[in-house]
Amino acid sequence: MKENKAVEIVCSACGKESLLIRKPQYDGFKKVGELLLCAACGHAYPSEADVPFKAQNKPKVFDESDRGPQVKVFEAGEAEKLCRHCASYVVNPFVQWCHRHKREVEATDSCADFSPRTEKEEKPPL
Ligand SMILES: [Zn+2]
Repeated sequence: MKENKAVEIVCSACGKESLLIRKPQYDGFKKVGELLLCAACGHAYPSEADVPFKAQNKPKVFDESDRGPQVKVFEAGEAEKLCRHCASYVVNPFVQWCHRHKREVEATDSCADFSPRTEKEEKPPL
Protein backbone atom coordinates (compact mmCIF):
# COMPACT_ATOMS: atom_id res chain seq x y z
CA MET A 1 0.00 0.00 0.00
CA LYS A 2 1.53 3.26 -1.10
CA GLU A 3 -1.44 5.60 -0.76
CA ASN A 4 -0.16 7.30 2.35
CA LYS A 5 3.37 7.90 1.20
CA ALA A 6 4.18 11.56 1.74
CA VAL A 7 4.89 13.39 -1.47
CA GLU A 8 5.98 17.01 -1.37
CA ILE A 9 4.17 19.41 -3.64
CA VAL A 10 4.00 23.14 -4.17
CA CYS A 11 0.28 23.62 -4.38
CA SER A 12 -0.94 25.41 -7.48
CA ALA A 13 -4.12 26.46 -5.66
CA CYS A 14 -2.79 27.87 -2.36
CA GLY A 15 0.88 28.31 -3.35
CA LYS A 16 2.14 26.61 -0.22
CA GLU A 17 4.72 23.88 0.10
CA SER A 18 2.46 21.08 1.08
CA LEU A 19 1.98 17.34 0.91
CA LEU A 20 -0.07 15.37 -1.52
CA ILE A 21 -2.86 13.33 0.03
CA ARG A 22 -3.88 10.28 -1.93
CA LYS A 23 -7.37 9.31 -0.94
CA PRO A 24 -8.50 6.01 -2.37
CA GLN A 25 -11.97 6.02 -3.86
CA TYR A 26 -14.01 2.89 -3.47
CA ASP A 27 -17.03 1.63 -5.22
CA GLY A 28 -18.23 -0.76 -2.59
CA PHE A 29 -15.12 -2.78 -1.81
CA LYS A 30 -13.52 -2.15 -5.14
CA LYS A 31 -10.95 0.58 -5.46
CA VAL A 32 -11.90 2.71 -8.44
CA GLY A 33 -9.38 5.48 -8.19
CA GLU A 34 -7.65 8.05 -6.04
CA LEU A 35 -8.38 11.59 -5.05
CA LEU A 36 -5.26 13.74 -5.21
CA LEU A 37 -5.57 16.46 -2.59
CA CYS A 38 -3.44 19.29 -1.25
CA ALA A 39 -2.88 18.72 2.48
CA ALA A 40 -2.92 22.47 3.12
CA CYS A 41 -6.05 23.64 1.31
CA GLY A 42 -7.74 20.48 0.14
CA HIS A 43 -7.53 21.38 -3.53
CA ALA A 44 -8.27 18.32 -5.63
CA TYR A 45 -6.08 17.66 -8.64
CA PRO A 46 -7.90 16.02 -11.54
CA SER A 47 -5.04 13.67 -12.34
CA GLU A 48 -1.47 12.76 -11.45
CA ALA A 49 -0.24 14.90 -14.32
CA ASP A 50 -1.79 17.98 -12.73
CA VAL A 51 -0.03 17.54 -9.40
CA PRO A 52 2.72 20.15 -8.97
CA PHE A 53 5.29 17.83 -7.44
CA LYS A 54 7.94 19.79 -5.60
CA ALA A 55 10.86 17.93 -7.15
CA GLN A 56 9.91 19.22 -10.58
CA ASN A 57 10.05 22.86 -9.50
CA LYS A 58 13.12 22.59 -7.36
CA PRO A 59 16.48 23.61 -8.79
CA LYS A 60 19.27 21.08 -8.46
CA VAL A 61 20.85 21.38 -5.04
CA PHE A 62 24.26 20.29 -6.16
CA ASP A 63 25.28 22.32 -9.15
CA GLU A 64 28.45 21.75 -11.11
CA SER A 65 29.72 25.18 -10.08
CA ASP A 66 29.49 24.23 -6.39
CA ARG A 67 31.91 21.40 -6.85
CA GLY A 68 34.42 23.31 -8.94
CA PRO A 69 37.84 23.81 -7.44
CA GLN A 70 38.36 27.11 -5.69
CA VAL A 71 40.76 28.75 -8.06
CA LYS A 72 41.68 32.34 -7.49
CA VAL A 73 41.26 34.21 -10.71
CA PHE A 74 42.41 37.77 -10.87
CA GLU A 75 40.98 40.24 -13.28
CA ALA A 76 43.60 42.05 -15.29
CA GLY A 77 43.07 45.34 -13.46
CA GLU A 78 43.04 43.67 -10.08
CA ALA A 79 46.24 41.78 -10.69
CA GLU A 80 48.09 44.99 -11.41
CA LYS A 81 47.34 46.20 -7.90
CA LEU A 82 48.80 43.18 -6.17
CA CYS A 83 51.20 43.95 -3.34
CA ARG A 84 54.01 42.11 -5.08
CA HIS A 85 53.83 44.66 -7.90
CA CYS A 86 53.77 47.60 -5.48
CA ALA A 87 56.62 49.96 -4.77
CA SER A 88 55.96 49.59 -1.03
CA TYR A 89 56.33 45.83 -1.08
CA VAL A 90 59.46 44.46 0.46
CA VAL A 91 60.27 40.79 0.64
CA ASN A 92 62.91 39.04 2.68
CA PRO A 93 63.31 35.38 3.62
CA PHE A 94 60.98 35.68 6.62
CA VAL A 95 58.36 38.24 5.84
CA GLN A 96 56.58 40.03 3.07
CA TRP A 97 56.29 43.58 4.26
CA CYS A 98 54.42 46.69 3.19
CA HIS A 99 56.55 49.77 3.66
CA ARG A 100 53.65 52.12 3.42
CA HIS A 101 51.38 50.44 5.98
CA LYS A 102 54.13 48.96 8.16
CA ARG A 103 52.47 45.58 8.17
CA GLU A 104 52.87 42.07 6.91
CA VAL A 105 51.30 41.41 3.54
CA GLU A 106 50.81 38.59 1.11
CA ALA A 107 52.15 38.82 -2.42
CA THR A 108 48.60 38.28 -3.64
CA ASP A 109 47.09 41.03 -1.47
CA SER A 110 45.74 44.03 -3.24
CA CYS A 111 45.66 47.52 -1.84
CA ALA A 112 43.93 50.83 -2.39
CA ASP A 113 47.21 52.69 -1.86
CA PHE A 114 48.93 50.65 -4.51
CA SER A 115 51.68 52.45 -6.34
CA PRO A 116 53.27 50.61 -9.23
CA ARG A 117 56.85 49.62 -8.84
CA THR A 118 59.09 50.79 -11.64
CA GLU A 119 61.53 48.53 -13.39
CA LYS A 120 64.38 50.47 -11.81
CA GLU A 121 63.22 49.80 -8.23
CA GLU A 122 62.79 46.13 -8.92
CA LYS A 123 66.49 45.64 -9.41
CA PRO A 124 68.64 45.29 -6.29
CA PRO A 125 70.77 48.35 -5.60
CA LEU A 126 74.37 47.95 -6.69
ZN1 LIG B 1 -3.15 23.95 -1.52
